[in-house]
Amino acid sequence: MNILIKGVRLAEGTVRDIFIEDGRIDEISEACARTAHRTIDGGNKIALPAFINGHTHAAMTLLRGYADDLPLKTWLEEKIWVLEAKLTGEDVYWGTKLACLEMIKNGVTVFNDMYWFWEDSARAVCDMGVRGFLSAVFIDMFDPKKACEQIESNIELFRIAEKYSPNVVFCLGPHALYSVSRESLAWAAEFSRSHGVPVHMHLAESESETVFSREKYGRSPVEFLEEQGLLSERFLGAHGCWVDEEDAAILARTGANLINNPVSNLKLCVGSMFPYRLVSESAIPYCFGTDGCSSNNHLDMMETIKFASLLAKFSTNDPTFLPAREAFERATRDAGRIFGLGDWEIKAGSTADIILVDLARPEFVPNFDIYSDIVYAANGCVVDTVVSMGRVVMEGRRVDGEDEIMEHARRVARDLPAR
Ligand SMILES: [Zn+2]
Repeated sequence: MNILIKGVRLAEGTVRDIFIEDGRIDEISEACARTAHRTIDGGNKIALPAFINGHTHAAMTLLRGYADDLPLKTWLEEKIWVLEAKLTGEDVYWGTKLACLEMIKNGVTVFNDMYWFWEDSARAVCDMGVRGFLSAVFIDMFDPKKACEQIESNIELFRIAEKYSPNVVFCLGPHALYSVSRESLAWAAEFSRSHGVPVHMHLAESESETVFSREKYGRSPVEFLEEQGLLSERFLGAHGCWVDEEDAAILARTGANLINNPVSNLKLCVGSMFPYRLVSESAIPYCFGTDGCSSNNHLDMMETIKFASLLAKFSTNDPTFLPAREAFERATRDAGRIFGLGDWEIKAGSTADIILVDLARPEFVPNFDIYSDIVYAANGCVVDTVVSMGRVVMEGRRVDGEDEIMEHARRVARDLPAR
């Protein structure tokens, strides 16, 4: 399957044809003479790399709007975990499909997920034609029996993950240091090292996590994870709001990555701003995530990067900090590097994960600077067409099967509280 996008604008202002073959951008030229299985009119559109959502819990779309305006601990323990206990694999399949649909509509083709019913999420990701870095939620609550079960099930998922490749990449997902024992974390570190598996974990999200870590282990969360051998370039730490200078030095030295989730952090009041300047000056790789739909409550990366950019300026009292282009590139090119996806730009040889943004909208008039318009003026609704791994997954804002997905998800979510 090859695709020709005719006469589309690129970010630098030129108009070009883009020829896509075998999941890659094969040619960018003024007038491509090759014939393709599918031709897309790029008129009045701009081609940009697709967004990568660095941290979410996809099937939480089913819980959107169910429990808002609560403290993190009450929200999680009294509302979210209670409802999640009722979920079946089939529910998660439809919830994940709904999340994929929403992400496609917002120009996201890759997401980093942590949720229950791993295989059902994996099926949904494959069916939707996007990519997921999927981790099962690893929680043992310091119970050795649960720890054994979790370890066994993760080994089994790792073994079968190949059948969902290339859409799905298996990751370990130790939930957080207050829900996973030291022994299990040490196991995860060793398994990650010996099999090259990424580790996706909540890190330094709230003050109570930091207090827990200092009281139980006598160390900050980052110091404790380093001691367990978990921090490396394979480590994907969601949040990092409570990272201090000593922590930042450790993260930089170990090559660990952070994922900033500005909307979720604001909504759940985690009590400390992501340390944008410290992380940036320490050269810690970071990108952005939406977090799950019950703490955001949607999956729009354009909104997320606007929040990040504004919070970075406000918290540093520096309006020049995290400018629009940098925010955009962190959510695309830099995220591509963090997730080992190679070149994530509109250029020959890059992976063909491309969005076409509709320029015939008021947000893009007068359009002095595309990055400014994307980050500060637009939202995900401006995305017209999405190519994921060289396949068209949305054109003219229509995704195959979208009505069925919404209907199924609606039914599941409606029935859930009464089960
Ligand atoms: Zn999360």
